[in-house]
Amino acid sequence: MENAPASAFIPHERILMGPGPSPVPQRVLRAMAAPTLGHLDPQYLAIMDHTCAMLREVLRTKNALTFPVSGTGMAGMECVAVNLLERGDEAIVCVNGVFGTRMKDVMERCGATVHAVEATWGDVISLEQITAALDAHPRAKLVTIVHAETSTGAHQPLAGFAELVHSRGALLVVDAVTSLGGHELRVDEWGIDAIFSGTQKCLSCPPGLSPVSFGERALAVMDARKTKVQSWYLDVSMLRKYYTGGAGAGGGRVYHHTAPINMTYALHEALTIVLEEGLDARVERHAQMYRRLRAGLEAMGLCYIPKHSLHSLNCISIPAGADDAKVRRRLLEEYGIEIGAGLGPMAGKAWRIGLMGHGSTVRNVDLVLAALKAVLA
Ligand SMILES: *Cc1c(COP(=O)(O)O)cnc(C)c1O
Repeated sequence: MENAPASAFIPHERILMGPGPSPVPQRVLRAMAAPTLGHLDPQYLAIMDHTCAMLREVLRTKNALTFPVSGTGMAGMECVAVNLLERGDEAIVCVNGVFGTRMKDVMERCGATVHAVEATWGDVISLEQITAALDAHPRAKLVTIVHAETSTGAHQPLAGFAELVHSRGALLVVDAVTSLGGHELRVDEWGIDAIFSGTQKCLSCPPGLSPVSFGERALAVMDARKTKVQSWYLDVSMLRKYYTGGAGAGGGRVYHHTAPINMTYALHEALTIVLEEGLDARVERHAQMYRRLRAGLEAMGLCYIPKHSLHSLNCISIPAGADDAKVRRRLLEEYGIEIGAGLGPMAGKAWRIGLMGHGSTVRNVDLVLAALKAVLA
């Protein structure tokens, strides 16, 4: 056929050094190409169970209710919010960037009264601020905080948070979308009650799943609900019957929605790669690459915005005289490198360079430094 449309889409390969997605290893892409199975096929249930088991390892948790929500990181955020909150509940939400702001919006849409604890973008939230918020709002059912604020590059310390929050009878909810697989994260040891993440940041898997995990306290809160979860799709009381084979012993798998089969293969392979490297080695690699990039950027006179910087996301001020859009366009067109623009109040003021998962390498660090040097000259 003379005018037959081209059937193949073959994009130019990019070096993904923005706020996500991160580069995906060939092994993961190949795993996705395996034959699609039925979502109740024993072969599929086995790989899904193994994926959940590996997620527990990577999250360092024994929580039985640990599974990948269908959807990206935002689906995990909504899943945690809609299941833990009922209309009229109170919640304390830490807001120091885009993702805390979104969490506030999501929780308000659940009908909760949200009390924001705020810090300047780029700063982190202190234990004193949480204490004051809990004093002022003793009915708060939960406190949520972003471990890795991708919009500002701030790394939130979590030591002492769970003890404080639990002493007031509240739950600790953590957004770990940009920390899982790149930063130290210990769900059980740190007393985190509910957590969500994403696949396309430090796990180096395509976007499409959101790992979540709920501990005993969170389960008790969900079991004590007086009203139905307002989202049918994200209702954990139904989802758990599929992902964990029912709450009770011998419970069967019940169809809820069709699991994204080939995305599960991808996550399974990505987690296999994480565990082959080893969690400690992976965290250390991210730390080393961060130090290498930071030293290079600072030697060029570029400044980091956050005081406590993430290793997975480097947020720097755009130097005076540089044209934000033009620099990013030249990096993309001449070097194939994608970096991120500033968001919200940092739009036009910051660049965000991601060193996530498979992308956190000496090659990428030295390449982005050389490219930036050339483009800024
Ligand atoms: C990326 C990100 C999200 C949202 O994830 P999506 O996959 O874009 O839906 C939430 N929180 C943080 C901290 C993120 O970096």
